[in-house]
Amino acid sequence: MSRTLFVTTALPYANAPFHIGHMMEYIQADIWVRYQRLNGAEVHFVGADDAHGAPIMIAAEKAGLTPQEFVAGIASGRQAYLDGFGISFDNWHSTDSPENTELAQSIYLALDEAGLIDVREVEQFFDPVKAMFLPDRYIKGQCPRCGAADQYGDSCEVCGSVYAPTDLVNPYSALSGAVPELRSSEHFFFRLSDPRCVAFLEEWTQDGKLQPEVANKVREWFVRDEAGNPGLSDWDISRDAPYFGIEIPGVPGKYFYVWLDAPIGYLASLANLFAKRGEDVDAFLARPDVEQIHFIGKDIVYFHTLFWPAMLKFSGRKVPDNVFVHGFITVSEEKMSKSRGTGISPLRYLELGLNPDWLRYYIAAKLNSHVEDVDFTPDDFVTRVNSDLVGKYVNIAARLSGFLAKRFDGRLSTDLGEDGRELLAHLHSRVSVVGELYEEREFGKALREVMALADRVNEYVERHKPWNLAKAEGAELELHQTCSTGIEAFRVLTVLLAPVLPKVADQVAEFLQVPDFTWADATRPLGEHSIGRYAHLMQRIDPDVLAELFVPSPGGEPDPEPAAPEPPVEPGGEPVAEQITIDDFAKVDLRVARIVSAEAVEGARKLLRLVVDLGEGHTRQVFSGIAGSHDPADLVGRLTVVVANLAPRTMRFGISEGMILAAAHADEAANPGIFLLEADAGAAPGLRVH
Ligand SMILES: [Zn+2]
Repeated sequence: MSRTLFVTTALPYANAPFHIGHMMEYIQADIWVRYQRLNGAEVHFVGADDAHGAPIMIAAEKAGLTPQEFVAGIASGRQAYLDGFGISFDNWHSTDSPENTELAQSIYLALDEAGLIDVREVEQFFDPVKAMFLPDRYIKGQCPRCGAADQYGDSCEVCGSVYAPTDLVNPYSALSGAVPELRSSEHFFFRLSDPRCVAFLEEWTQDGKLQPEVANKVREWFVRDEAGNPGLSDWDISRDAPYFGIEIPGVPGKYFYVWLDAPIGYLASLANLFAKRGEDVDAFLARPDVEQIHFIGKDIVYFHTLFWPAMLKFSGRKVPDNVFVHGFITVSEEKMSKSRGTGISPLRYLELGLNPDWLRYYIAAKLNSHVEDVDFTPDDFVTRVNSDLVGKYVNIAARLSGFLAKRFDGRLSTDLGEDGRELLAHLHSRVSVVGELYEEREFGKALREVMALADRVNEYVERHKPWNLAKAEGAELELHQTCSTGIEAFRVLTVLLAPVLPKVADQVAEFLQVPDFTWADATRPLGEHSIGRYAHLMQRIDPDVLAELFVPSPGGEPDPEPAAPEPPVEPGGEPVAEQITIDDFAKVDLRVARIVSAEAVEGARKLLRLVVDLGEGHTRQVFSGIAGSHDPADLVGRLTVVVANLAPRTMRFGISEGMILAAAHADEAANPGIFLLEADAGAAPGLRVH
């Protein structure tokens, strides 16, 4: 029975462009989604920007924009990344949307109805200049333990101790520098400690669906402390105005904390997608067979395994079927940090012309179903792509397709011979194993399995040596069988790699002249079939180009320091002149002219006296400083261009009635050469140059 899936990736905070960590998550989810789709599943795969919260409000103010304008600027950059790396989202939306407002408010009201919302007075620092309550990260002061200056309100970066902002010595607002006042305000809490929530979550998190290491981590959060307080504490879900977010219904001036409405953005994006299609999203989510899957990073497990399922459950909604957690990506073992310039800019990667399927393959080869970090090592990247993808896989088609085209008109043999049949039977027998590994997100193992199959195919080709068969007498049949077997095996490998290499799979389908692949194609022989012409599928990585990826660049992610401006390029040794209009240009009347005669000018080393015909019924005399580069005899009869309406100039040697066009460097002494402009043969004297 085919599956119906609702799949999401974590919502990126809309204050910066994507980094390589986002792309890793999208690639992981996309491979899984593509595998499901190849298998006939109906998948609704959505993402959205997480647009609300104090950091965006403050960043927008600094940029002189409204929060909406600020977020729209970030959102407009998203598609280039998603398209560039072949991420097959069905929809990209925003938490700052009507759908999300409606959903967040209705979920909140249902939780309130269920008796799971509490109102409590909370004392908090207030910035009297900005007239706002300060988030912990915007309060600074001296560490209460070690006395270090300029520490944040939640923890000390010097001694590592964790405290409340009210513990800081000499606190000040990081926004205005003002001394904050302690004020009290009503806050709204989601009662996660309610026995109903605890009972539901203990069951939901410990029933075996979560990855074992995730379930173990979550179990620690349930344990009561020494004082007997419940492990799960209630969650402060409100913030006071001014705040960029969704208003709490019926409580003017109070907004949902950004983390309340962020995951609701999954549902908002799905609702937006269904509205575009004119379909009923509520009916869809009410279906018991729909599986809801969230891909997330290990830093947001608490939100996704406790708050999110509890919010859904007690607002009477469908709860997630699973949450798949991954680790972080490091580059050469260093944790990614934009400020230190490590990390890889995904846009720069694309701008350099590096193949997106290379990165997809490399990341897939390193991913498993566990919460482990993935390391990107440039040398390893080059080796894996060049030896596996190009050396083992692409090479099969590159070596065999030529023989098929030249000798058999592209027609595949239906008789593969005994050795060929055995090879294909072995490949077919491993298809379900590879599928299982994709299903379990054991992508590294899946690719190792596929490469082991590619090794077998290459051994088969080596055994039969088609390059020898092509030259031997009477080996026509074996040559045909060998090449047909190899291409058929290549097709099977392509289906197995299709979730990881969507671009290559499309190219291969075109080359083989087959429709878009399905997973079932891996075990269904082509039979009577002719293939098209092989076009180059993928080249090896040039390590020099890859090295450019690690040179800090003004493109892609913002650099902390703006790059020094390049010295201006001066073509031909001088800057391009001030801009003119088309009308300015029209004042210059340029005409094709034939050089009738040319001679040196006595007493002027550089000058030639030219007689030119502009088709006027009479000729003109023009003096031109081209003697150093031109022999007068060579010029006679040539077609060139003359400024025809230049005011006549009286020179020592006579009147010059125009100017011949020629090119020269601004510093002609250092860059000698004068180059006469020439009209194409056949142009008639007098034609105007436009
Ligand atoms: Zn300290």
